[in-house]
Amino acid sequence: MRALVKTAPKPGLTLTDVKDPEVGHNDVMIRIRKTAICGTDIHIWKWDEWAQKTIPVPMHVGHEYVGEIVDMGVEVRGFKIGDRVSGEGHITCGHCRNCRAGRRHLCRHTVGVGVNREGAFADFLVIPAFNAFKIPPEISDDMASIFDPFGNATHTALSYDLVGEDVLITGAGPIGIMAAAIARHVGARHVVITDVNDYRLGLAKKMGATRSVNVTRESLKDVMGEIGMVEGFDVGLEMSGVPNAFSDMLAVMNHGGKVALLGIPPANTAIDWNQVIFKGLEIRGIYGRQMFETWYKMVAMLQSGLDLSPIITHHFKVADYVAGFDTMLSGQSGKVILDWRT
Ligand code: NAD
Ligand code: ZN
Repeated sequence: MRALVKTAPKPGLTLTDVKDPEVGHNDVMIRIRKTAICGTDIHIWKWDEWAQKTIPVPMHVGHEYVGEIVDMGVEVRGFKIGDRVSGEGHITCGHCRNCRAGRRHLCRHTVGVGVNREGAFADFLVIPAFNAFKIPPEISDDMASIFDPFGNATHTALSYDLVGEDVLITGAGPIGIMAAAIARHVGARHVVITDVNDYRLGLAKKMGATRSVNVTRESLKDVMGEIGMVEGFDVGLEMSGVPNAFSDMLAVMNHGGKVALLGIPPANTAIDWNQVIFKGLEIRGIYGRQMFETWYKMVAMLQSGLDLSPIITHHFKVADYVAGFDTMLSGQSGKVILDWRT
């Protein structure tokens, strides 16, 4: 089968033939229709420090996808050949305390599809059936292929009650933009989003942010005055991983505010702890998606009118994957889809 492989410890990926995967007793084999390029894939493409210490070579990567089941192990129940699925990219042990308590997103032994084991940028992907998620027919292939990052946005945004709240999102990457759309959909009042990239801020505005702020030109305090916010934000969603964005957020949170951190900052990033202590802030780290509560919420939000289609800005045939990665690297895109049925 074809796959996008890290063939050598250097930047880039190569479209080449690899051995078909084998189906274990509890696995499903998925024929991939569409995949999306994640920020993680960009780290892998660039072969940065994190990628060098994490990604085995050679290995094919990718973890955002939709496809249909073409084969399954003898023990698999609840799926049939032809089911259209995406899948949870975190494969958990099933035996640790958190797994046994149904908190699989907190498993201590998580293995990542396309990060620690072979991924979805291929004609076929094999995963445990437990990780597959059936997609209702009214949800498009495009949308199903981005359930993984949509799930990060959902897990983060829905970690606090947003009804009637003023929400600050730092970072208008694809996940921050989807979180803005979710916050509006579930009833937040002001949804203010920051970035340094005007293209992405424009997209965030189109998708439901009530105010976008380019922090290279405007200050959050000025914007709060302009929109009549006197006290501070009730909920903060950090989705940039940029230390300055996080400290700016802490400065404009209301007392008693709640902050969820999805963006991954450099290790040992310092903050002003007085902002946390004297404001009585609640801060929570977010990893992955809740299995599988987040997935059901995603389906329900799409079925109740959440429109995320503008976040998908580019489509490429898999043969043109270099152009796809270049588009993602340019910063002038939302989600970029690679079509494997071409
Ligand atoms: P992304 O890199 O596309 O988005 C980050 C955005 O932050 C970019 O648009 C960038 O221009 C913007 N930015 C840069 N400087 C800024 C500043 N000073 N203020 C505000 N914004 C600024 O990433 P993404 O794919 O949307 O993911 C968002 C973050 O979440 C990344 O840090 C990613 O590594 C992380 N992530 C975490 C998990 C998890 O499980 N915790 C999962 C997926 C992604
Ligand atoms: Zn576990």
